[in-house]
Amino acid sequence: MTGFDIFHSRLIVSGYLETLTPLRIGAGKSTSAVGADQPVVKDIFDRPIIPGSSLKGALRSHMESLLRSLYPALACDFINTPCLTEKAAQTLDDATVIGETCLCCRLFGSNNVAAKLALRDLEVDADTWGGQYLLLNTLTLKFTLEPNGPILIKSGKEDGANPTLPNMNFVRATHPKSGASTIYLPGASLKGVIRSHAERIIRTLLGEQGCCDPLNKQSACGDKSEFKQRGDDALPSHKVYRTICPACQMFGHTVMASRFLIPDAYPTNAIDVLPIRQMVAIDRRSGGSVNTFTMEVCTEGQFEGRIIVRNFERWQVGLLALVLRDLREGRLSIGFGKSRGLGQVKLTFSELALSYTGLPTDEPAESYVYGVGEILSTSTNAARKGMIADYGFSVVDPPPTSAELVPASVERDWLRTEVILDQDETIFAALWNQVGSWAQYVEARQGAVQ
Ligand SMILES: [Zn+2]
Ligand SMILES: [Zn+2]
Repeated sequence: MTGFDIFHSRLIVSGYLETLTPLRIGAGKSTSAVGADQPVVKDIFDRPIIPGSSLKGALRSHMESLLRSLYPALACDFINTPCLTEKAAQTLDDATVIGETCLCCRLFGSNNVAAKLALRDLEVDADTWGGQYLLLNTLTLKFTLEPNGPILIKSGKEDGANPTLPNMNFVRATHPKSGASTIYLPGASLKGVIRSHAERIIRTLLGEQGCCDPLNKQSACGDKSEFKQRGDDALPSHKVYRTICPACQMFGHTVMASRFLIPDAYPTNAIDVLPIRQMVAIDRRSGGSVNTFTMEVCTEGQFEGRIIVRNFERWQVGLLALVLRDLREGRLSIGFGKSRGLGQVKLTFSELALSYTGLPTDEPAESYVYGVGEILSTSTNAARKGMIADYGFSVVDPPPTSAELVPASVERDWLRTEVILDQDETIFAALWNQVGSWAQYVEARQGAVQ
């Protein structure tokens, strides 16, 4: 039963999905091929995205009908008559659970089996989109994470019945350069750590009402009734943006795509063999030890990652700086066993690229960070300027003297400006200089909340 415990291979399919018939955005019933009643979600400037979950739903139901036409038991109706109920699965070992699960659930997942298929959100290719899509600025931060003590990002699949494997295993994938099996830091777990710490900071300053809990149906911005309107009643993007909480403005939610991306971070060279630690589980009530378990930990190596923020406001960079400062100072840990002191990392920055489109060439981009509000305010176009009020973007005037940046290079052409910083200290200082904008934003928001 080793087959499901070890990561053998990963198949990645990339490509284009071209619309052959009109794709109506925000319609009550989508006419698209994907999703019967899941209208297309948009990002902050009305650029449509197709959520990976919608496409996955369309693929799943088509596979169900294909399989059922071969032999009905190959694909269950997993909502009404699942192939294996959660209750029945609890009494079975892993091999039997897999054996009892239909082919469709094995691929797409069920309550008992993790999905094998993951689909990213589909974004519009800017060159093919003639709509209102605006990309005003992009921040790309390259970083290195090094374990500072043992770390463990658990793979979803644990040891099962195999006594030769540790009870808890590090998540593995194929190394993008060498193709070898390697441990890695999934972007989703890094984003989770960053988002939840940002939420904590927001709540500290703005109170419980200042930030939603994305997992709680009562409070999550995405579950508010005003966002459920479709068709002509659907809220325009700028109103959605103004209404959602700061964490959702930064990290996205179900009605607005995220502007914050963090891809998986891989070690410079593949790491596949890890030390194994024996741990003792402590009974919370008696304080006595109850049993021992083994786990893989990573204690060395450098993981290279990137954070990308598109169409950012200055305050968002400031908020990100606060989170990254705490990660750098060891106040924030990643992965399993935080209460046991696991998950401490050393964070260093290797490059910060700030790129702008449509920023006038006489603006001091080499010494100042431009959020969308600042960029739009330089526009001579009234409609563009009007977006500042519509979205409620903050606009901070450049300070007359002090420079916020010490760039290594600045490149300008008529359309694009790119500012590159390449020293850890200057990068951190540039990010940290945005904390003032975050403080101003908090003040404005406090005024609005009260
Ligand atoms: Zn099934
Ligand atoms: Zn929210």
